[in-house]
Amino acid sequence: MADVVVLGSANMDLVATTARLPGRGETIAGEQFRQVPGGKGANQAIAAARAGGTVRFAGAVGDDDLGRRILAALAAAGVDTTAVVRTDVPTGTAHITVAAGGDNTIVVVPGANGTLTELLPAHAAAIDAADTLLLQLELPLPVVRAAAHHAHARGVRTVLTPAPARPLPDDLLAAVDLLVPNEHEAALIAGVDDPYQAAQVLAKRCDVLLTLGERGALYATADTEPVAVPAFPVTAVDTTAAGDTFVGVLAAALAAGAAMPEAMRRASAAAALSVQQPGASDSAPTAARIDAFLGGVA
Ligand code: ATP
Repeated sequence: MADVVVLGSANMDLVATTARLPGRGETIAGEQFRQVPGGKGANQAIAAARAGGTVRFAGAVGDDDLGRRILAALAAAGVDTTAVVRTDVPTGTAHITVAAGGDNTIVVVPGANGTLTELLPAHAAAIDAADTLLLQLELPLPVVRAAAHHAHARGVRTVLTPAPARPLPDDLLAAVDLLVPNEHEAALIAGVDDPYQAAQVLAKRCDVLLTLGERGALYATADTEPVAVPAFPVTAVDTTAAGDTFVGVLAAALAAGAAMPEAMRRASAAAALSVQQPGASDSAPTAARIDAFLGGVA
């Protein structure tokens, strides 16, 4: 039995670094190229497993080399990949150009992720066996909706990262136990820009943990006003996937029986560790590093 199941996207990030972004129609020489397993679903699964969770990933990759390498990366992090579907459609890819100074462009080709338009029996069975389900919005909305309803009906805790940002149908929010938006996503869904007010609005519909980057997070429920969850003061070098690390580690802690304040503190610590290193899923810390960090600041 997996404590945490992640139904979400798996992409290979194809990252080119350049001195500057090319103009329209222009070809320029790049500097470096690297391939990193990514996609919000895979990132969250890897973060949860590295933090000590028992994690299964439910998603889809192509029957191709990129798919095999993503599965190997998930397995190397300790993630159970037996529920991953192999498709004739190629593995999803994110084509990322990063200029010196951090400006970037990203084109995501969903590929195999886009074939998941309904809840497959293997994925439903994985949810049935889990304590906590992690969802994001990089799969087609119908499967996210179906998974949330399936989990809700069975009492499986459902955590939704509403990224990429989009308005959410009422029935989806009603089936979610905890919504974890960043500032931009919260403003779009709640219809107000101020994070405190957005947290108040969203908390009427489900528990909400609104992340604010280096300013930490706000946690609110229907019965409580938003409370601040402090971030740890660190020097960030790359905040890519900080949110995914935060959610993955939060879920691993909750599934292991931690109370919400303790789970949020572990998630903040893990995200603070991850932003001090370059990379995405590859910068998610192990349980031992999180423990050592928390021991050092206690
Ligand atoms: P991403 O899209 O890059 O995955 P996000 O926008 O979803 O990130 P953020 O709100 O930026 O998520 O960050 C999530 C959490 O990570 C924050 O609530 C905080 O605890 C931690 N964090 C992010 N940036 C920093 C930072 N510079 N220093 C310390 N902690 C940070």
